Amino acid sequence: MPDTIVYRGKDNIYLNITNRCSCDCEFCFRTFTTDVFGSDLRLSSEPDAEELTQEIELAFLDGPAAEVAFVGMGEPTMRLDVVLAVTEWLTLRRLPSRLVTNGHGRLLNPGVDVVADLARVGLSAVTVSLNAADPETYDLLCRPMFSKAFREVLGFARSCVEHEIATTLTAVDLPESDPDGCRAIAEAMGASFRLRPYVPPPDSPPDSSDESSPGSEPIPR
Ligand code: SF4
Repeated sequence: MPDTIVYRGKDNIYLNITNRCSCDCEFCFRTFTTDVFGSDLRLSSEPDAEELTQEIELAFLDGPAAEVAFVGMGEPTMRLDVVLAVTEWLTLRRLPSRLVTNGHGRLLNPGVDVVADLARVGLSAVTVSLNAADPETYDLLCRPMFSKAFREVLGFARSCVEHEIATTLTAVDLPESDPDGCRAIAEAMGASFRLRPYVPPPDSPPDSSDESSPGSEPIPR
């Protein structure tokens, strides 16, 4: 069976470009399922931009979509070159694009002006998983591979706002997340805020009405 690299959910088309992530979030649902909107998101190999654009064209044969979003079951900016190439392809076709990210793009791509590049290729929107209102709680909940990641997530999101990419910060609805604190951080930088439902493990299957990624938009976020 071929890998699912493009799938539909809600009114959107989602792109699954990697299973790798720079976080190990306590609440990530990829620890107990690989199924999102009825698609198994495990990849046997990572798709290139051409494979993705071919699959996107096929997905549009099933009808229009509100947006095309990099979500999948991993952190898309692990593959920044693919994100940029596919976003540029979408922009040329006037299709709205959204990146769902843990905000580690600049840590994962040192020496690259990641947000400027995303703006240059015309990224329409970004959803950044904040998940905590302070660095200590962030480290406990998200277990990032980088030190000082919380500060970088804020810097990434702020830079997106400055580059006029529609920016939304999100947090999973857990008591530790301090949703009010996260909302205040978002508003202070000129971003929107959205609280994502917590998707509990096994016995209660994930609510497929949520696009919660194990990034949590069905996955990162
Ligand atoms: S929730 Fe998102 S950021 Fe966290 S480990 Fe899962 S895929 Fe990575």
